[in-house]
Amino acid sequence: MALLIETGLSDWMSDSDIARDVRALKPGLDVRTPATIGDPSDITMIALAGLSDDQLARLPNLQLVQKLGAGVETIVGNPNLPDHVRVTRLKPDAPAQGIAEWFVAYILRQQRNMPFHEAAQYRSEWSPKAPLYSPDTVVGVLGLGHIGARSAKMLRAVGFQVMGWSRSPKQIDGVTCLHGEDALPDLLSACDHVCAILPSTPQTVGLFGPDMLAAMKPGSQLLNAGRGDLIDEAALITALDQGRPGRAVLDVTRTEPLPADSPLWTHPGVTITPHVSGWHLGDALRDVAENFERLNSGAPLLHEVDRARGY
Ligand code: NDP
Repeated sequence: MALLIETGLSDWMSDSDIARDVRALKPGLDVRTPATIGDPSDITMIALAGLSDDQLARLPNLQLVQKLGAGVETIVGNPNLPDHVRVTRLKPDAPAQGIAEWFVAYILRQQRNMPFHEAAQYRSEWSPKAPLYSPDTVVGVLGLGHIGARSAKMLRAVGFQVMGWSRSPKQIDGVTCLHGEDALPDLLSACDHVCAILPSTPQTVGLFGPDMLAAMKPGSQLLNAGRGDLIDEAALITALDQGRPGRAVLDVTRTEPLPADSPLWTHPGVTITPHVSGWHLGDALRDVAENFERLNSGAPLLHEVDRARGY
């Protein structure tokens, strides 16, 4: 029984650095990398960023796929993933804190007229403009899971009126929680800023098409840090041109990196950040090591994904 670290990423931590950190957390674990894999039939767990058919074909005794992150749509959506293989994800504090901050930062940027004042300074102009008042501002958070609940609480602590939306009913102090697709248009029409932090599932892909965009409050701001496939990007451009919503801030796009010829890059109502809102991993590797031990001992796994539900 061995754990293989094979992220498939070249612009993040190296496999050998992750393997070193996991071994340091729990000395004695058999942790391998593609360079030290030995007999592939020893591998019972793989930790990765995205699952390939090649990995599945090479690892005949695979029992657990551990995502080194949160979004598992390409893993649970792989038709070649055998039914008996379990899937786990990470739920560290660090990216949840980072994404909540990203929402707060880009909302306050508008509330406090930061682009306006920076442009005025550039022209050496003293141009007072009234900021918006947070207690009069309604912020919606779509997805009230690990990250969304934390974001809703941080936005509430800043002083906004906060509404939340999820699949099943939720209770969060000071947050008006709605659930189910029928409730979404009412929430959208009430919110000045809408923060999306939803997983990619058959129910959420393309959810923000012409109808949901038209339900948004005129001049409002749509922020997406979940998955890019939530939004029909052509419909978003049309909706922005009509001022409903008035702005979009996107940390995730349907294709990443965003192609150079995408109209999103240059649209005056769009701000793009390159999937950086939840950058830090924090102490998440602790749960990778823990899950390998739990797999070996038959104990319940941490943060197991419901493969049928898709998240
Ligand atoms: P969770 O699984 O903890 O929460 C998901 C939330 O979405 C839950 O509240 C769930 O509702 C809700 N939800 C799912 N489907 C629907 C639906 N059809 N209608 C309404 N609500 C729905 O996930 P996390 O909060 O940890 O992460 C969310 C997503 O954020 C990840 O899947 C990933 O794609 C993305 N992400 C992006 C990062 C970045 O760097 N930009 C970093 C980390 C994650 P319920 O509670 O009722 O089940």
